[in-house]
Amino acid sequence: SATLIFSLAACGGGKTDAGAGADNADSADVVKIGVSMPTQSLQRWNQDGSNMKASLEDAGYAVDLQYAGDNDIPTQVSQIENMISGGCKVLVIAAIDGSSLTEVLKGAKDAGIPVIAYDRLIMNSDAVSYYATFDNYKVGTLQGTYIKDALDLDNQAGPFNIELVTGAPDDNNVNFFFGGAMDVLNPYIESGKLVVKSGQTEKAQVATPNWSTEESQKRFENIITSVGYDPSGVKLDAVLCSNDSTAIGVTNALVGAGYAAENFPVITGQDCDKPAVKNMIAGLQSMSVFKDTRTLASKVVAMVDAIVKGSEPEINDTQTYDNGTGIIPSYLCDPVFANIDNYKELLIDSGYYAEADLK
Ligand code: BGC
Repeated sequence: SATLIFSLAACGGGKTDAGAGADNADSADVVKIGVSMPTQSLQRWNQDGSNMKASLEDAGYAVDLQYAGDNDIPTQVSQIENMISGGCKVLVIAAIDGSSLTEVLKGAKDAGIPVIAYDRLIMNSDAVSYYATFDNYKVGTLQGTYIKDALDLDNQAGPFNIELVTGAPDDNNVNFFFGGAMDVLNPYIESGKLVVKSGQTEKAQVATPNWSTEESQKRFENIITSVGYDPSGVKLDAVLCSNDSTAIGVTNALVGAGYAAENFPVITGQDCDKPAVKNMIAGLQSMSVFKDTRTLASKVVAMVDAIVKGSEPEINDTQTYDNGTGIIPSYLCDPVFANIDNYKELLIDSGYYAEADLK
């Protein structure tokens, strides 16, 4: 890839200093970057997409930003094909299904176009040069530790009832989110202090296709009925949810079954999506994990810039993320814990949201 990087810089592909924003597209020697996002149906990806576009344009690049409908794999594949044939010099891709891009990315490799996997690792492709994400294992341990502390598992006798909900089985991040959380919770399940009354503990049993709120709600309604969880009957103490979109499905199911803030179980989440933060304020979700998409976008823009200029992008992890073709050099941003006590400082004081967004 060193040769490739050199040739990109040498062909006059470097960014121009003149003109930012919309002007970039008009200038013939401006470098175009392809940004492929999975869906517009979830707040975080809209933010990721618009942050990336704005920051890349500020840095002098032209941007081809595409969303693959609502997690539609063939759409993502054809959008990437178009980016390759349309002259993009670097591709930034948040994959819907980590394993479905192997074929299309052969085209990127043949054309000498470096690929950065964004947030989710792209599996089984040697076209992937770098990976930029948050520390996904830490996301899981933050969630597991929150439940452990909230139920005071080391001091209380229990037993406590817990149910488990994770995300899309084809998203490599799920292995880290669920794995990290279960590394904290499993010892208590094994000792009997935590009980999963549905009996559903395997990743395949607790996965949610496409991270869909509707799917997690449906599954949780079934669990409530089959186990007999009830605000005044079988107690539900905690639900591990790997992100906000699944937490909202679980919350909807619980509210539908008569639960309210005063008897709500401990529920975890991730992303600090607006509806989840509102639930947090209303006492219907205990925590979320804040992943500042501005930070990720700026790291990726720096990566793109380094690649285009022929220098080495900053990485901080070279041992965690093997995509089946070897370890992909990664930059991991730091996820942080958010709850009712610190959300104002994290989300409002930092300018991520306006106070009115959370009303
Ligand atoms: C992301 C999460 C997000 C989930 C659903 C994961 O790969 O890391 O932030 O909640 O996908 O879109």
